[in-house]
Amino acid sequence: MRSRKCATCGKAIARDVATFPFCSPRCRAADLHRWLEGAYAIPSVETPFPSPDTPREVPES
Ligand SMILES: [Zn+2]
Repeated sequence: MRSRKCATCGKAIARDVATFPFCSPRCRAADLHRWLEGAYAIPSVETPFPSPDTPREVPES
């Protein structure tokens, strides 16, 4: 495989990006945040980042 997918959002990313294996600092932070949530089991329904399974269909106008 020549391309890799972001561990957070699944978007194809280049190997030489600074944020590899994530497509962006945002996704890197999101992954870390989720890891921390799992590690500390913080009961929270609010997440600072959208779900990777949720397509961004909501326009910000
Ligand atoms: Zn991503």
